[in-house]
Amino acid sequence: MGKLHHVIIGASAAGLAAVEAIRRVDKDCPITVVSKEPLPLYSRVGLTHFISREVGYDGMRMRDEGYFDRMKVRGVMGVAALAVDPVAHRVRLSDGESLDYDNLLVASGSHAVMPPIPGTDLQGIYPCITNIDAKQIDAAIPGTKEAVVIGAGLIGIQVVDAFARRGLKTTVIEQMPHVMPAMADAVSAAIAEEALRKAGVTVRCGVRATELLSKDGYVTGVKVESGEVCPCQLLVMAAGVAPNLDFLSGTGVSMNRGLVVDAYQRTSLDGIYAAGDVAETVDMFSGERVVNAIWPEALNQGRIAGLNMAGVATPYEGSMAMNVTSVLQTPVVSLGAWNSQPGDRYEIREVRDDRRRIYRKLAFDGEQLVGAMLVGGFEDAGILHNMIRTRTTFTVKPDHLAPTTVRWGTVLRAIHKAGRV
Ligand SMILES: Cc1cc2nc3c(=O)[nH]c(=O)nc-3n(C[C@H](O)[C@H](O)[C@H](O)COP(=O)(O)OP(=O)(O)OC[C@H]3O[C@@H](n4cnc5c(N)ncnc54)[C@H](O)[C@@H]3O)c2cc1C
Repeated sequence: MGKLHHVIIGASAAGLAAVEAIRRVDKDCPITVVSKEPLPLYSRVGLTHFISREVGYDGMRMRDEGYFDRMKVRGVMGVAALAVDPVAHRVRLSDGESLDYDNLLVASGSHAVMPPIPGTDLQGIYPCITNIDAKQIDAAIPGTKEAVVIGAGLIGIQVVDAFARRGLKTTVIEQMPHVMPAMADAVSAAIAEEALRKAGVTVRCGVRATELLSKDGYVTGVKVESGEVCPCQLLVMAAGVAPNLDFLSGTGVSMNRGLVVDAYQRTSLDGIYAAGDVAETVDMFSGERVVNAIWPEALNQGRIAGLNMAGVATPYEGSMAMNVTSVLQTPVVSLGAWNSQPGDRYEIREVRDDRRRIYRKLAFDGEQLVGAMLVGGFEDAGILHNMIRTRTTFTVKPDHLAPTTVRWGTVLRAIHKAGRV
């Protein structure tokens, strides 16, 4: 029997992690990667660092020019997958070619969702999802006096941070009661909002944008529910993302908020896998089905999908929330079951030092750390992350981890004494 042909749709975190996992197992099976975007291979996480001028255009690259050749991969770049025939195992592409696959990985990521308000097609309005969006936003900044960002989630808050660093007068509008609603609790968000306000950003939470105003086809402002207008010449829409799945319509694949996958990243269709922002997996703590649209998840799921496609049966232990961002030099980190509240299923330990702008909330299931919310200090975020992910091998007394400055020597001695490592 000949070697299996793996086709991967999407050349970003999940798609490339799959390529690398397959190659670890099989050095020369045919792999074709199809991407709607042309070269270079870049990281979305770098977009706002480019807008803020912390890195140049090349600083967003995540693999060099020779990557596909070295990995013995056929890269079909600047070409979209249009349709999938799951019976014939064939993908139809926008350049007229059709590709037969043995295994197909859907790693097509997500796109910006436009809120349902009139005027989203005006000039001066951009999503911030691709390197082209970032270039356009960067080019628009010099002609901009005032900017508005709609949405203060992970992407929106990073755009706001970049605008503040570029000295732009910026307003952020968030319909939820506080910024970063999916990755920070109210206490942490309040600290981040204070940092934004100190830097001159106008933060409008619990407010809905209702209309976009314009002159000669260009955006001039955002009207909010109260009738008040936030003037702007540049508007970034960061009101959420949704998975890119249009090319799978009519296939009958099981979809919910994303493509439903099992522990092996397999969809409901034979030979079709999914990973990253498109995939709906299971949260390792709550057991709920989730689309966890973050870079580390895309890497993990891509790697698991690749191993399984290459014939090495590898289950995924489940998805884990892991958000790390910096709001104008104030680090905000949320891990695992970070959103637990006192009185919930887990024991909560909180420490707050308002003077030093430090907040630390840890959630324990008995002696196992299951979640962390950190603001200000995040030096031990990596260790805490490992403790949460490998919860079956690390146990520790809650008191040891709770202070703002953890004495790791004491913690390790206590673990050793208990014979746990
Ligand atoms: C501005 C910004 C900042 C971010 N910051 C962070 C951060 O700090 N931390 C973090 O964890 N996450 C962050 N994220 C989220 C993170 O980038 C995503 O979770 C991650 O990129 C998902 O990887 P993916 O491989 O699943 O999909 P994507 O990176 O979205 O890549 C999918 C690729 O598939 C292509 N594609 C789509 N449809 C087709 C088709 N029909 N045919 C061919 N190709 C197709 C797309 O064009 C794209 O190139 C950020 C995202 C953005 C936009």
